[in-house]
Amino acid sequence: METNPTVNEHNALITDIAVFPDCNTRLFNAGETIFSEGNSADKAYIIESGYVEIFVGTGHDSLQLNVLGPGDFFGEMGIIDASTRSASAKAIGPCRCIVVSAAQVAERIESSSPMVRLLLAVSLHRNRAYNAYLKTLTNPHIGLPRPAVPETAYVRSQQYQQILDDIKLESDLQSAVRNDELSLVYQPLLDLNTRKIVGFESLLRWPCPQRGMVAPQQFVALAEETSLILPMGDWILEHSCADLRHFQHQFDYLGLEHSDFFISINISARQFQQANFFDRLLACTHRHGVNAQQIKLEVTERIFLNEIEAIDAIGKCRAAGFEVSLDDFGTGYSSLNYLERCEIDCLKIDRSFIHKLCTSDRAKILVGSIIDIAHQLGLPTVAEGIETPAQMATLQTMGCDIGQGFLFSHPLPLAEALALVSQPLALGGFDQA
Ligand code: C2E
Ligand code: CA
Ligand code: CA
Repeated sequence: METNPTVNEHNALITDIAVFPDCNTRLFNAGETIFSEGNSADKAYIIESGYVEIFVGTGHDSLQLNVLGPGDFFGEMGIIDASTRSASAKAIGPCRCIVVSAAQVAERIESSSPMVRLLLAVSLHRNRAYNAYLKTLTNPHIGLPRPAVPETAYVRSQQYQQILDDIKLESDLQSAVRNDELSLVYQPLLDLNTRKIVGFESLLRWPCPQRGMVAPQQFVALAEETSLILPMGDWILEHSCADLRHFQHQFDYLGLEHSDFFISINISARQFQQANFFDRLLACTHRHGVNAQQIKLEVTERIFLNEIEAIDAIGKCRAAGFEVSLDDFGTGYSSLNYLERCEIDCLKIDRSFIHKLCTSDRAKILVGSIIDIAHQLGLPTVAEGIETPAQMATLQTMGCDIGQGFLFSHPLPLAEALALVSQPLALGGFDQA
């Protein structure tokens, strides 16, 4: 039995240990049973050399399901869904296999997306049902067994419904990108000393005909799990640069100087990690005739998962004149580490800190310290999520440079953002509050 090694198996194990000190390889003799139907499963195997027969039933009633050779994986089904073996495995000739422990497989599965786990469960379920059906062909009196878990149980589960919803959302989002359904809104960034608008952050919106306005929290993460974020990212760059031209025309029309004006564009980690990201960015700015100096790239710590590549890409962008802001600063687990290793241009303090600024002494100490550190490194700070005059006043006292938040303005469609540039007094309400 697989879980209770026989004397022979035990001896084989001892031989394995002698030959293969890490004990991850097993030798099987010709005709040796590797596991039998009904055994509990605690390991899977990868064939290094030799051949293995997979079959159901016994003796004359046995039915061959497969013959596997070098490179093939087997015995995984039972450990994926923690059930007993639904087929047997036997070495056809001398056979050498790498042993994969249940823990090794389980760890990989647990760290995969819920969708992958569910798809695995459903296809295993079908595979087992098919094996059971084959057994009834060779041994009709057995009759078709009732599955332990009916397939409808998976389909009705909340997890399955959530996965279906995500797939539908993803397909809708794919068509939205194809059909140009996305749009950008712009939220002003103010110099907290002069209270003048210095730039805008472009933020993505999806006015979906069926779902209504979908917030980015709902779909950006989903797009980031797939490669969909890449065409979306291209779309965002394209339209942000085109809209920057509109802002510049507005300033020219009003006779206002705008060489320091900028647009902040959120760049997702996956997008930033593309090998040709820099070339695409440069090509986009050239296409629209805008200067690198007027574009800030907002990136989060997630880009540092590939640290060397990220530092290299940031260096390239900065050398070409683009500024790089570290967004959501303070929420990652190694923010200070990256500050030491990589030069950037600006720190954007996460809005969760600003939210508690006037109610939590600890948040206040942390925000004050972040601003001090940034200034000592020669970096300006942006505070996002400013909602009250008290938060703004505290940030001003602390020396924060730029502010963004509902106190000044919600994100606006382009036409309204353009109007704001010409009527900066519309933001003046917070002065008296
Ligand atoms: P983020 O980059 O941190 O963007 C700032 C978010 O804070 C925006 O949410 C903005 O509307 C919100 N915000 C600004 N001021 C306030 C305030 O005073 N109070 C509160 N409660 N919220 C405020 P939004 O537009 O819903 O975007 C959420 C996140 O979605 C963004 O966080 C960013 O991570 C992602 N996102 C949005 N647009 C894009 C985009 O174009 N590309 C990428 N890659 N991600 C985007
Ligand atoms: Ca941002
Ligand atoms: Ca942020």
